[in-house]
Amino acid sequence: MFLTIHRGSKEIGGTCVELQSGVSRILIDFGLPLVDEDMERFDSKKIKGKSREDLIQSGVLPDIEGLYEGEQATIDAVLLSHPHQDHYGLLTFINSKIPVYLSEGCKELIEVSHFFGQTNYTATNVKPVTVWEQFQEGDFTITPYLVDHSGFAALAFVIEAEGKRIFYSGDFRGHGRKSILFENMLRRPPENISYLLLEGSMMGREQGEYRGEKDVEEKLVELFRNKEQMYFLACSSQNIDRLVSVYRACKRSNRILIIDPYTALILHKVKKISPNIPQFDWGENIRIFFVPNSYTDKMAEDKSLFQFKSAKITYDQMQDVKDRLVIKDSYRTRQIFSKKGHLEETTLIYSMWEGYFPDVKPFWEENKVPVLHVHCSGHAYIDDLKKFVGAIGPEFIIPIHTFFPEKYPELFGDNVKIVKDGEMVEI
Ligand SMILES: [Zn+2]
Ligand SMILES: [Zn+2]
Repeated sequence: MFLTIHRGSKEIGGTCVELQSGVSRILIDFGLPLVDEDMERFDSKKIKGKSREDLIQSGVLPDIEGLYEGEQATIDAVLLSHPHQDHYGLLTFINSKIPVYLSEGCKELIEVSHFFGQTNYTATNVKPVTVWEQFQEGDFTITPYLVDHSGFAALAFVIEAEGKRIFYSGDFRGHGRKSILFENMLRRPPENISYLLLEGSMMGREQGEYRGEKDVEEKLVELFRNKEQMYFLACSSQNIDRLVSVYRACKRSNRILIIDPYTALILHKVKKISPNIPQFDWGENIRIFFVPNSYTDKMAEDKSLFQFKSAKITYDQMQDVKDRLVIKDSYRTRQIFSKKGHLEETTLIYSMWEGYFPDVKPFWEENKVPVLHVHCSGHAYIDDLKKFVGAIGPEFIIPIHTFFPEKYPELFGDNVKIVKDGEMVEI
């Protein structure tokens, strides 16, 4: 069997791994890079309007034979781990005859992202998998594992061929709202793993003040209970775990979480995957502000907005209960509050990765709004990675999704095998 990491051996983002056994070839993930060659943030405008040849030339698209439209497809399938752009963002370029295996939840979120123009990938030729249910693709026997991650319905994969078992960890953590999945993995790890492709996003990064989603929830409850004032809260609408933490904190402190129609739609779409995810019609602790922006317009156009009418709260109604509000931040919402002069007595809770904070910092500074950072990572901490490796006991560990592959041997010993981008290795 042959393994090629087309990208991701020494960076976070743009992950793409190929496995070949006999004539069977599969790819795992096909993501948009997060950084360019100078380690600056990758500008997605770089791919707009460019031809496939240009993008291969500039190194954005890996040069993989039999993958792209217009040539004979010799890649049999793509396994997609989860709906983060750094794992699926380039799938729009592949030959549409090649099927993509993914989780049902992953499909839902990609469809929403496509509807709102965040991705060109339409997720049409997809095959939703059932977690823990083995399936066959060519010479490969594949078992998807559900894992705890900030991306929804994230999967890891055990892939078998030629008597070898590969474990692709995908992005995962042990401290989210589904930490039970991590604990179960430690208790009953997949056996006889020859190669573990292990993500290491947290290498070179600090753990931060709040270790897990539960700590985030507790901190929010403390803040919400202690002071009568309005809060803005910035988090990703696709980080379902975080939305659950925020909603729970609002409920426990009897506050009202104000979401936008876009967020309401996402929650509604994933309801069928998990009935425990808060919904717009769950009562007095959640309301929708029909913020006038392009997303709301789009939902009005296709009539999906209408279903949320019963939970609608107007701007004036919000003013009557402003000391109880937790408003999910969006560009337009904060602009409206600022223009009306209603941002005094407000605190922003920044609940996202720090790397994005500089984008919004000037706005909150100009409006003299204090900022609190309450967040935890979507990725496993070093001590959890060690527990994970200890439980699985693979023959070899291959670093992936990390800026520091050279740190692996210090942490996991001399069975670490560093593979370079584009290098084909026999395993
Ligand atoms: Zn990732
Ligand atoms: Zn991810």
